[in-house]
Amino acid sequence: MVDLHCHSHFSDGVLSPEELYNRAVSSGVKIFSLTDHDSVDGVSRLIAANNSQQMQVISGIEFSTRFKKHDIHILGLNIDLANVGLSKVIQLQKDSRVVRAKQISELLAKCGVENAYDKACDIANNNSIGRPHFAKVLLNEGLVRDLQGAFTQYLGARKKAYVATSWIDIPQAVDAIIQAGGSAVIAHPLKYRLTNTKLNELIKEFKDSGGVGIEVVSGDMSAAEIDHAAEISLRFDLLASSGSDYHADRISRVAIGRQKALPKKCNPIWSKWSLN
Ligand code: AMP
Ligand code: MN
Ligand code: MN
Ligand code: MN
Repeated sequence: MVDLHCHSHFSDGVLSPEELYNRAVSSGVKIFSLTDHDSVDGVSRLIAANNSQQMQVISGIEFSTRFKKHDIHILGLNIDLANVGLSKVIQLQKDSRVVRAKQISELLAKCGVENAYDKACDIANNNSIGRPHFAKVLLNEGLVRDLQGAFTQYLGARKKAYVATSWIDIPQAVDAIIQAGGSAVIAHPLKYRLTNTKLNELIKEFKDSGGVGIEVVSGDMSAAEIDHAAEISLRFDLLASSGSDYHADRISRVAIGRQKALPKKCNPIWSKWSLN
């Protein structure tokens, strides 16, 4: 069992890196990665502390990128956390998060929410600030019934408080990952609801940049969706990854390490990562 995609409170998850680690061990996970949005603070702490023989911890990150007006997530796995180029790109992304958060706050002010930026910062607690923190603000203010409602009414693409963010592009993300010695993976490829043409274009740009993998199993997927993603991985000769994309018990339908199995026909990205 592996889990190469989840989130701690260093981005929009609720658990600490250590709590996630303990849950992964309890679930029988053998290879684990913590992939916070545009942050390696949590996984750095885990790797510095990990001397367990029970489970291998792989460094990871989930980069937000912009591709043809879509927000596409690229996982960087097995990266050198000390790499200077990688750190610079992470800083760019953190800056973009702050700029965007202030813009979201201005839009929310027009909807009657005062000081949304400060309120979201309090919830994010100095970590990678994102839309889920604003979703909590909207929930606390009683403007929406649940977090999903905050996205469908305010924060989702083209809604009242949506801001098109100047994330790095796919070549920049893949290049930073490669410079840091890691493997770039397209996260949850079916979640973007791209047409086949757009998905093919995305994969071409990704592969031309040096990307090597695609998430075949991600969170809660049906057997048919997994088979579809597996076929894409084979058609484009991409290595297959698998992760729960766990954020919190309330939000995530799949617990750490509990996502469905990778189809046998796939070529697992972790097969070359030896246990040591
Ligand atoms: P951000 O990276 O700040 O743009 O936030 C994206 C994150 O918001 C995703 O990683 C999800 O955790 C969460 N998210 C995105 N869309 C939705 C949605 N429709 N409902 C609930 N959470 C969402
Ligand atoms: Mn998230
Ligand atoms: Mn994602
Ligand atoms: Mn994720």
